[in-house]
Amino acid sequence: MTPIVYYDKPHQVNAADYGIEIPIVGSRPDMIHDSVIQNCPKIEIVSETRIDTPRPPLELVHSAEFVHNLLDSKETAIKELMKCYELINDDGSFNRYNPANAIADPTEALGKMFRQCEGTYIAAKMAWDKKNISPAQMVYYLGGGQHHARIDGPSGFCLLNDIALTAMRLIKEDGAGLIWIIDVDVHKGDGTAEIVNASVRGELPVQTYIGKNPEIINLSIHMARGWPLDREELAKSNGQNCAPIAPSRIDIGIESGDEANYVPKLKAGMDTILGYSGNRKPDFAIVVDGADPYEKDGLPSSALLKLSLEQCIERDMAIYHFLQAHKVPSVWLTSGGYGNAAWEVAAAFLKKLNDEV
Ligand SMILES: [Zn+2]
Repeated sequence: MTPIVYYDKPHQVNAADYGIEIPIVGSRPDMIHDSVIQNCPKIEIVSETRIDTPRPPLELVHSAEFVHNLLDSKETAIKELMKCYELINDDGSFNRYNPANAIADPTEALGKMFRQCEGTYIAAKMAWDKKNISPAQMVYYLGGGQHHARIDGPSGFCLLNDIALTAMRLIKEDGAGLIWIIDVDVHKGDGTAEIVNASVRGELPVQTYIGKNPEIINLSIHMARGWPLDREELAKSNGQNCAPIAPSRIDIGIESGDEANYVPKLKAGMDTILGYSGNRKPDFAIVVDGADPYEKDGLPSSALLKLSLEQCIERDMAIYHFLQAHKVPSVWLTSGGYGNAAWEVAAAFLKKLNDEV
């Protein structure tokens, strides 16, 4: 098996280009890509050049009204983008947003985000199409992982839930039976949980189940406190089944100072996934490989958990070995990661992987 890195440079979003003052550094995928070129001769890079891909079937996981807003007019679409990045305060003033500094039209960002959503499925299919090889195929997409995006709108810098959408498409279009989602971003995968739970309740176009196929088993290991878990105003305004408090099948909260137990708790969680899977063979795994648990992450809301680079590598290798032990093909998504050091986590993991395969 040759690990694949899927690099989609034309569709990277650099927040500053749109006057958005959030440390989403557009060069993160480039830095990871350059490190793979330099340090990982056993890893293949697939670069995307197509720009005319079809619109993803968003209706599988998002409400008709939200999809309508995105497609109806530039005005309604930009409003959704503003919600996504939390750019407007309750009093109508701008938050972390200075349109005067923009060098590109924000609708360009929307187009890129649509394409990144499709990119997750394209990357997943690269692994899916090799699902019978051993060791199991893994594809690392330098994009995707929008786990806060909810059924009826964006949330937490996430516009479209490419993770849940890819899982639903693998079930609907490719006949997948059992899919594991392993989310190690520092924030809880609340939007994904909301969507998976709605699917189990029969409220979405693709019905999934608990204990029989098709099934999505989602694990989220995250900060025990902090965004979005402490957003009480959000929690109060929603029912039990809605983000941010919608439960994943397996939620593991890590308290500040408990970093040494992070990997052991993750491994215990993966054992629980196995128990929930019974004797069924999993068809596919989606790894939401956020870099924001890293101690050098640049986002204030990720500061309650500080894994060292070595702990991040140990985390990712534990997932990789778990998936290989059970012969599960996988797509990995970069997800959260802020500031100028965010690229280091995936680069270090891929280097380690290169040295092992
Ligand atoms: Zn995050």
